[in-house]
Amino acid sequence: MKRLKRFTKVLVANRGEIAIRIFRACTELGIRTVAVYTEQDTLSLHRFKADEAYLIGEGKGPIEAYLDMDAILEVAKRHDVDAIHPGYGFLAENAEFAERCQREGIVFIGPSPEHIQMFGDKVDARAMAVKAGLPVIPGTPEPIQSLEEAMDFVGQHDYPIIIKAAAGGGGRGMRIVRNQEELCEALERARSEAKSAFGNAAVYIEKFLENPKHIEVQILADRHGHVVHLFERDCSIQRRHQKVVEVAPSLSLTDELREKICNAALNLMEKAGYCNAGTVEFLVTPDQQYYFIEVNPRVQVEHTITEMITGIDIVQSQIRIAEGYALTDPEVGVPTQKEISTRGYAIQCRVTTEDPARNFLPETGKLLAYRSGGGFGIRLDSGNAYPGAVITPHYDSLLVKVSSWAMTYEQAAKKMLRTLREFRVRGVKTNIPFLENVVQHPVFLNGKYDTSFIDTTPELFE
Ligand code: ADP
Repeated sequence: MKRLKRFTKVLVANRGEIAIRIFRACTELGIRTVAVYTEQDTLSLHRFKADEAYLIGEGKGPIEAYLDMDAILEVAKRHDVDAIHPGYGFLAENAEFAERCQREGIVFIGPSPEHIQMFGDKVDARAMAVKAGLPVIPGTPEPIQSLEEAMDFVGQHDYPIIIKAAAGGGGRGMRIVRNQEELCEALERARSEAKSAFGNAAVYIEKFLENPKHIEVQILADRHGHVVHLFERDCSIQRRHQKVVEVAPSLSLTDELREKICNAALNLMEKAGYCNAGTVEFLVTPDQQYYFIEVNPRVQVEHTITEMITGIDIVQSQIRIAEGYALTDPEVGVPTQKEISTRGYAIQCRVTTEDPARNFLPETGKLLAYRSGGGFGIRLDSGNAYPGAVITPHYDSLLVKVSSWAMTYEQAAKKMLRTLREFRVRGVKTNIPFLENVVQHPVFLNGKYDTSFIDTTPELFE
């Protein structure tokens, strides 16, 4: 068998908590780590957590710098980097970047450019899911060009509908339309918003499902044709279509439905010939029908809770897969599907520097005090969270991801509440009071929440 060339140096083209998370995985694997940082991130912790760190994008904007492929590839080549991990966001779903890495002889730790391309376009992704036999929400098979096409769809499927940007992501580029009066303006707005936010005005329409749960399945796939799932996460607790609290495993799936959904995800990724880590997302209606919505071809913010219930390090697996290892290789340590099981329950809360009393307005300033909670069963993934850290307006407002694990859901929720209460953050407001309300709410505790939970539960904001 051909000997695999292991990576000796990995660059992380990202910042914040996910950069640090990836450095940790690399260090445990004996790989040297390289950070890139911007002028605005001169004091950011990810810079100091890597073995080497280089300034990029001088004179560029804070976001543009992390999107500067030339600058990142230049650092990688100059410092003998074997592979680049893109994290999530920034260049993680940029097929051109993956391809340019390939051309430069640097391994992109993620799926192929073709898979990024296919799953980056929600219309193409849907088509692939249909081909693989997965149930999809009734929708237009192609982007729509005119009001007439939209009306045709409504004629067949009625309101409510949701207009989605084909290139959308992160909960943005979606518009719910409940009646004819709203349709024309909503369509125009959706197209112009999609154009300005994603550089692509293509939008399509789906039937809007009322009160679904968001269930997603974590997949790992190697180059040798092995594909496994690591069970599901329930990410129904959302604000503006963005996840706030995630739970694994879901409390509301029967074993039979869980098996169906996990197998559907496996089947899709097998048929697509996917490689590396990815997530297949579904909506599940109150009458237990499940529908594919999209694939995220990258590591996700909430991967931590799957790691806690399965014991499998997803980021290390990504690295080993990119080196060419088979999942079953003892070096990777991912068991066969039959042997992968879950133990207990894990919950993740995304602690952000946002003021819940002011409609979650992002806060900036200096952290005058920062003391985190902790203890048995608690995992913290933070970027720039320490006393004296300055929260700038340049990047997203995630401060720390708090994940709790316990044998029962009730215990995991209690542990989460206890930990959130232990936090002391001064100088900048956080959403911790809001999260405390969520994890002690009776609906959260009985697991009967759906994606409308936050919007329909005003007492969470008190
Ligand atoms: P993004 O890529 O921006 O995350 P998704 O397609 O994954 O967008 O959808 C995000 C969330 O939006 C879902 O979890 C769900 O709450 C809501 N959503 C998306 N499509 C529908 C739909 N057809 N009906 C009801 N809710 C939807």
